[in-house]
Amino acid sequence: MSRFWSPVAQKLVPYTPGEQPRGGAFVKLNTNENPYGPSPLALQAIRAATDDGLRLYPDPAAADLARAIGARFGLSPDNVFLGNGSDEVLAHAFHAVFSGKGPILLPDVTYSFYRSYCALYGIENREIPLDADFRTDPADWKGHGSAPCGGIVIANPNAPTGIALPLAAIRQILTQNPDTLVLIDEAYVDFGADSAAGLVAEFGNLLVVQTFSKSRSLAGLRVGFALGQPSLIEGLRRVKDSFNSYPLGRLAQTGALAAWEDAAWFEQTRQQVMADRARLTDGLAGQGFRVLPSAANFLFASHETIPAETLLADLRTRGLLVRHFTAPRIRNWLRITVGTAQDCDALLQATGDITGRA
Ligand code: PMP
Repeated sequence: MSRFWSPVAQKLVPYTPGEQPRGGAFVKLNTNENPYGPSPLALQAIRAATDDGLRLYPDPAAADLARAIGARFGLSPDNVFLGNGSDEVLAHAFHAVFSGKGPILLPDVTYSFYRSYCALYGIENREIPLDADFRTDPADWKGHGSAPCGGIVIANPNAPTGIALPLAAIRQILTQNPDTLVLIDEAYVDFGADSAAGLVAEFGNLLVVQTFSKSRSLAGLRVGFALGQPSLIEGLRRVKDSFNSYPLGRLAQTGALAAWEDAAWFEQTRQQVMADRARLTDGLAGQGFRVLPSAANFLFASHETIPAETLLADLRTRGLLVRHFTAPRIRNWLRITVGTAQDCDALLQATGDITGRA
């Protein structure tokens, strides 16, 4: 704290990202990175673009990438907004569509960065409690009485639970809130949930956010995007162009485009992650863990007798990093990223040793 902090800075609730260890040979299952690496074609394209052209600013609209992304969903580039990771897209979206309105609705257990954006932009939020199995009823998602809500934010699949909402539930939420913007954060959608991208043309109150960080294994490149009707996207552009005209560097635009077009690599790696997720789920269940059904590249698991914090520390001493959150409802749970088949074996071996149920 410094006396020079603004009142805004004093009120911030910064998000704490998972640890990125600098050294040591950790099996890193704590930040939902993809273990398989980006498309070789993306790496090749980035290498080829690493030249004198870097003296020039990039295309501020990333038009080639926007066109390719839009085309995949039957949409035009005007439906696509690109940002420096989906975290930045989310931040601009919160600023563009939620600030200055009534409280937005969030699940009580969800991606904690949403609360950071609320603090940053002075947005109030109301929690919709998930049930005992961390599921939600679409009927719960509407403004109450005379107080319509200022917006709705749902991660699908949810984080850190991994639980997906069916498309019919999203459609119901959109239909019962025609005057409320519904933001669906699909960071993990490619690992087994249904995307709402196909509903963008039909619903003007829908904004879908996706990322290249997970299913395209480009967390280090920082590329995310939003899909919505053009007038909505224009609002996000206004915020972006009042903040940073060039959020995506030339290498990011080139690499993301090549990754987007490498359908074979995308399909092969996500299928592998889903297969290992099933094996990891069964293995952990056999060791006394309750594992939520995941449609993402991570599992959310709680052991019947051993506290999550003990497991976290024991795994760390064995060289395995997983993620733990301290919010009361989930403090006895661990979020475990699905790594390579070998990483999953190492995790199961370690949890087997710790639980005595190898
Ligand atoms: N949404 C959710 C639900 C996430 O878990 C993450 C990753 N931490 C993000 C968005 C942001 O991902 P990125 O900024 O890497 O696109």
